[in-house]
Amino acid sequence: MARFIFITGGVVSSLGKGLTSAALGALLQARGYTVRLRKLDPYLNVDPGTMSPFEHGEVFVTDDGAETDLDLGHYERFTGVAARRTDSVSSGRIYSTVLDKERKGKYLGRTIQVIPHVTDEIKDFIQIGEDEVDFMLCEIGGTVGDIEGLPFFEAIRQFQNDRPRGQVIFIHLTLLPYLQASGELKTKPTQHSVKELRSIGIQPDILVCRSEHEIPEREREKIARFCNVRPEAVIPALDLPSIYSAPLAFHGVGLDAQTLDAFGVGPAPAPRLAVWDDIVDRIENPDGEVRIAVVGKYTELEDAYKSLSEALTHGGLANRVSVKMEWLSAQIFEEEDPSPHLEGYHGILIPGGFGERGAEGKINAVRWARERKVPFFGICLGMQMAVIESARHLGGLDGAGSEEWNEERVKRRLDPVEEPVIFFMPEWVEGEGTVARSADDDKGATMRLGAFEAVLSADSTVAEAYGATRISERHRHRYEVNIKYREHLERAGLSISGLSPDGELPEIVERSDHPWFVGVQFHPELKSKPFAPHPLFVGFIRAAVTQSRLV
Ligand code: GLN
Repeated sequence: MARFIFITGGVVSSLGKGLTSAALGALLQARGYTVRLRKLDPYLNVDPGTMSPFEHGEVFVTDDGAETDLDLGHYERFTGVAARRTDSVSSGRIYSTVLDKERKGKYLGRTIQVIPHVTDEIKDFIQIGEDEVDFMLCEIGGTVGDIEGLPFFEAIRQFQNDRPRGQVIFIHLTLLPYLQASGELKTKPTQHSVKELRSIGIQPDILVCRSEHEIPEREREKIARFCNVRPEAVIPALDLPSIYSAPLAFHGVGLDAQTLDAFGVGPAPAPRLAVWDDIVDRIENPDGEVRIAVVGKYTELEDAYKSLSEALTHGGLANRVSVKMEWLSAQIFEEEDPSPHLEGYHGILIPGGFGERGAEGKINAVRWARERKVPFFGICLGMQMAVIESARHLGGLDGAGSEEWNEERVKRRLDPVEEPVIFFMPEWVEGEGTVARSADDDKGATMRLGAFEAVLSADSTVAEAYGATRISERHRHRYEVNIKYREHLERAGLSISGLSPDGELPEIVERSDHPWFVGVQFHPELKSKPFAPHPLFVGFIRAAVTQSRLV
């Protein structure tokens, strides 16, 4: 039976609950415990798959093909525990399961209510696989008092009573605003937030207080008294120079010690934190800097590419350099010469994305990187653009394009793409069987999602980077490179160095006439960790370091 830690938030959103949960998970691991982290999201979407990255940030994909909240990315990056479909749930999913059961007559004609039917469903979810770990950390999305969140709060309140004493604790994250005029930290919002929590029957064991300033002892005692927690369980969380400083910083202020104390675990084994010391040392003392241009669409919101920016940072850690990323909108290159915009960067990366907007600009950026021999990394859509670029400019296929563009073209009564080097595959092999889909399926159902294996050519750049010829990576896309064009592409100098095991789906392309030019159909950024940087990001940044010495 696992011990459960519920992490809730109050006062305002975006206080870093996900990061706090992830850092606490890492600290418990450092003390020798096993953990799993889970996210319960109150919104009514069934999953974030169809939500705009502008609004919700990136969609994080698990090995088992779930489209989840970006916090699961933090959990993985801090603990190395691969998230699963059962680590993320929304109200939408819970309600749809309950309604499904109701239609199937599983409730034997009873009236279906939030309590107990919805709350029971939530409690069942929370417990999945608990026997595998010592601690289960469950983060509740949103803030206390949100109307959609109520069933979750009610479920975790009940859950504490369902369990033997000492098996469940609550950590509440709040904000202490600083008033410049009077020079003080204000505790009232925190008091109100805890009052709200207590009014629904939850007494927090630990308060994590985000603050821009040190919390004076007096204020800490005041918070403790008014919120009914021990003074030592009021944990300050000051702004940090890097998210990877969080485990050490939280350890320094006793978050892990207080957590174990709240469970009555003692004496707790001392933590081993050398890994985090090393990471922080590499961040704080880099040997140089490389500049990477990321040419994409969602450039206004960095959260839309969260895992990507982290993976680039990790590539920097492995090479002991800091990575300065700049986000450029692909649309600028549609008409303008890319040179003045791209000159001076040590690497060009085109990330994943959807739709036709900016495609020609991306293709121009690939061409520039190829011709100027600047390290290039194309991910998912970025790889598809690299394939189109080679097909058009070196493979003699002027009409090369992606079937993804046809949606827009039909609307504008234009002819479909002439040479669909990137096409929609109605069927592919997955595990023992085949998966079929049609372009008219539900939006959420038409993608190749989750982990798939690929076989790499023995003497390729990628096989050398991975140190292996069989890999598994996560996917999230509708379109594929059409193997039918293989000869054209190879004549254009673009070799297919990674293929699905059945040889049907190109997974990786690369150029041997270039210092580092790699395109991958999957999302390697999803598996990178600060303590285990992804080999392709390590290779890309290494090439960028070499480039930085040339220019
Ligand atoms: N839009 C492209 C596809 O669906 C690429 C997707 C992506 O980059 N994740 O295939």
